[in-house]
Amino acid sequence: MLSPIEPTTAVDQVIHRLAQAISSGILKPGDQLPVEAELAAQLNVAQMTLRQGLNILRELGCIETTRGRNGGSFITTRPIDLGGVFQGNTPTIAEVQDMTDFRMAIENESAAVAALRADRVTIEALRVKLNDCIAGCDGGVDHWLSDNAFHVSISAATGSAKLTKAAAQIQLELHGLYNRLARPFEPILPHKTEHTEILLAIESGDPDRAWAASNAHLVTTHDFLISIVEKLGK
Ligand SMILES: [Zn+2]
Repeated sequence: MLSPIEPTTAVDQVIHRLAQAISSGILKPGDQLPVEAELAAQLNVAQMTLRQGLNILRELGCIETTRGRNGGSFITTRPIDLGGVFQGNTPTIAEVQDMTDFRMAIENESAAVAALRADRVTIEALRVKLNDCIAGCDGGVDHWLSDNAFHVSISAATGSAKLTKAAAQIQLELHGLYNRLARPFEPILPHKTEHTEILLAIESGDPDRAWAASNAHLVTTHDFLISIVEKLGK
């Protein structure tokens, strides 16, 4: 039997779409959202639905709204905690494993395909994301946003809309997972060298090297997550 669609679904979708854009770095701190009518049209929802979604995101501290001539809704410049969207219990080891399996399927494959397809312009765009990421390694929310953006860019470098969408979804879910653990974390130090190796491997045009570089990085991240979950006694 199909369960009826909850009336809140469209509002949830608004929240998720915007939260996804924030966590994947498509929307950055300080960015202004389009006016409501335009944003509602972009998301293909009624303005009332959009407004309800924006209200919740405002309560969560993800967006700020100012009035007046230059007013509007902006992505907050304070560190964003999307945990409120994903409240839940401490992740289990099985959940972390499932997340890693999903990441490996999408991201390792993306890296390999990107090595075969990415042209110079795409590689340079990826390098910009990598440099943001390295600069962000001194911590804070920027680190997470730049890290997310780098990962999504690898899938985007394949030219596949579906892989890019899946990669953005991964970052959203990963963000939710991290938010269910005690935060904040220091940026994981091997990230700098591992991210760099992923880029170099893609640039070398060697799909096996790119796959292996991505896989090595995801193993590091996986082990890091598992070590925290174990510390929390799950
Ligand atoms: Zn990373």
